[in-house]
Amino acid sequence: MAGIEGKVFVNGKLIGFHSDLHKLRKELVSKRRQGKIEAQTNIALHEDIRELYLNTDGGRVQRPLIVVESGKPRITKDTIKAVRDGKLTWNDLINQGYIEYLDAEEEENAHIALREEDVTDKTTHLEVNSLGIFSIITSMIPFAEHNLSGRTLHGAKMFKQAQGLTAINYNLRTDTESYMLYYPQREIVRTKSLDYLKTDSRPMIQNFVVAIMPYMGFNTLDAVVLNGGAVQRGLGRSAYFRNYESEETRYPGGQVDKFEIPAEEVVGHMGEAAYKKLGSDGLAELEEWVEDKDSIIGKTSPPRFLEEITDFGVIQEKRREASLGPRKGKPGYIDKVLLTEGMSGARIAKIKVRSCMVPEAGDKYASKHGQKGVVGAVVPEEDMPFTQEGLKPDLIMNPHAVPTRMTIGHMLEMLTGKAASLAGVTADGTPFNEDPVDTYRQILKAYGFRPDGKEAFYDGMTGKKIEGEIYTGVIAYRRLFHMVSHKQQARSRGPVQILTRQPTEGKEKDGGLRFGEMETETLVGHGAAMLLQEKLIEDSDKVVELVCEKCGLIAVNDQIRKKRYCPNCETSQVYPVQMSYGFKLLLDELKALGIYPKLTLADKA
Ligand SMILES: [Zn+2]
Repeated sequence: MAGIEGKVFVNGKLIGFHSDLHKLRKELVSKRRQGKIEAQTNIALHEDIRELYLNTDGGRVQRPLIVVESGKPRITKDTIKAVRDGKLTWNDLINQGYIEYLDAEEEENAHIALREEDVTDKTTHLEVNSLGIFSIITSMIPFAEHNLSGRTLHGAKMFKQAQGLTAINYNLRTDTESYMLYYPQREIVRTKSLDYLKTDSRPMIQNFVVAIMPYMGFNTLDAVVLNGGAVQRGLGRSAYFRNYESEETRYPGGQVDKFEIPAEEVVGHMGEAAYKKLGSDGLAELEEWVEDKDSIIGKTSPPRFLEEITDFGVIQEKRREASLGPRKGKPGYIDKVLLTEGMSGARIAKIKVRSCMVPEAGDKYASKHGQKGVVGAVVPEEDMPFTQEGLKPDLIMNPHAVPTRMTIGHMLEMLTGKAASLAGVTADGTPFNEDPVDTYRQILKAYGFRPDGKEAFYDGMTGKKIEGEIYTGVIAYRRLFHMVSHKQQARSRGPVQILTRQPTEGKEKDGGLRFGEMETETLVGHGAAMLLQEKLIEDSDKVVELVCEKCGLIAVNDQIRKKRYCPNCETSQVYPVQMSYGFKLLLDELKALGIYPKLTLADKA
C-alpha cells in the first residue's frame, strides 16, 4: 500500500506530521500487541482526511476482541488449553497480543468476524463471544438477533423501569422511592449473561402464560388483559416504598425545631385528627395506616419573629406547625421509623411508608422485546378463554402488536418458554447462538402440543370454541413502575400561577390538564370557535381590562375614587375588553422593552 503523508494527533492535539501513516499505524499497533505501549491506547487512521489519531485519555468505551493475523485467530485450541490449565491469565492474553481492546474510533479500522467460520483474509479481529456486541442490559434479551434493533433498544430501555428485587437489604435502605415485586421469578428462557450477572439473586421478572388474541375491546392497540385469578394469586403484585425525612433544625439564637405532637395553641394546628397516628415522640407508630390528611412526623418550629409581650406581661412563645404527611395519593402502612443524628448533631427522623400495589387497569407491563402495554381490564378468571386442558392465560396481548414491530424474538421466547416449562428445564436463548427452536418444537410435539405453539381456545363466557388457533406460550414479563394510582388526577377549580394567572401544571401542584398548541390546532381545524374560547380563555386566565380609546394602552379603575381613567392621557374614554391575562402580560413586557403596543378599539360596548 502506498504510504500516505498526514497529520498525527494525540488525544485530539496535533503533535506533528508523518510521511507514512499506514506504516506508523502498523508499527504502533504491533508495539501495543507486544506490550511495549499501554494496552488501552487506541490508534485510529482516518485515511480519507489523512489523519492518525492516538487516544490514551479516559472516557472511551472499549471492548475486547481476539486478534486475527493473516486469516487466523491468534487464540488457538492450545491457547485455550493454556488458559484452562492456568498457564495464561487474561492479562497475559492482552499483554501478549492475543486479545486487544478497541474503542469506537479504532473499530472503524477493524474488520470483525462474529464467528470463527466467518474469518477471511480481510478479517482483523474476532468476537470473544457473540454476546460481546451487546451491552449488559441488551445481552439479557433472549433471541435478540431476531428482533428489529429499535425494538431491542426499546426493550433494553424499559429494564430500568422494571420492578423487582432491587437490593437484598431493601428493608434497611432509605431510598426516596423504591419498588419490590412480591413473587419475582428466574427466567425460564435465559441468556448466558444472566448467569454471569447473577440476576437470579436479584430477579425482576415473572414468567407469564401469554395468549395472543383479541379480548372484546379490552386489549385494543397496545393494551393487555390480565387474568383476575392470577392477580389474586399474586401475579405482578408489588410493594411501593416511600421515605419521608425531617430534621430538628437548630436556628441561631438557640431556637430549635422539635419532633412532638403539636399542641392546640401552635400556629397552623391541623386539628386533633391529623395527629392521631403519632406516638408520644411525635413520630408515627409502626404499621399504622396513613393517608393524605394524616401527619407522619409531628414537628413544631420556633416563631419566625421575636415574641411580643402579651397584655399580661408574659412572654408566650407561639410555635409554628411544621409536620410532615405522606404525599397526596400515596397512602400506606408505616414500615420503618428511623431516628438518627445529622452532621450538625441535630436529630433526623426518617419514616418509610409501604403500600401494596395490586395490579389494576392502567398499570404497565412489558416483555423484554419492547412489547409494552397498559392493562385494559383485569378479567374474572371464569371469563377468561381456556384451552382444552383448562389452562387460562395470565395475560392476553393483541395480535396487532406483532406484525408492525416484527418482534420475532418475542414469539420465539414464548415458544421455547412453553416447551421448557413442559419439560421442566430452562431454555437457552442467548443471541447469535445455535437456534434451539427446532429442539423445543420437538419437545412440544412430544408433550402432545402443536409444534407451532398454537392452540384451540374456548370462550370463557359461552364455552364455545373460538374460531382460529391462538398462539400461546410462556414468556418473561416485567411490571414497570408507572402505575395509575400514582398518576390519576382530576381538577375543577384550583391553584393558578402568580405570573401568568394560568392554572398550575403537574399532579403535585393540583394542576390542570394542558391544552397545548397541537390541541388548539385541532379545534381551529374544526372551526370550533366557542370551544376554543372556553378552553383558552374562560377555563384559563380570563381577565377584563380597561383599554383607552385614545392611546390604546391599558387603563386603570380607581376603586377608591370610583374613577376609570387612562394614566397615560388622563381621559376617561376607556372601555372594558376581555382578554387573556397572558396577553396583558405580553403588553406589559413590550412596554418594558420600550415598545408601544397600541390597541385599536373597534366595537365599543
Ligand atoms: Zn390613553
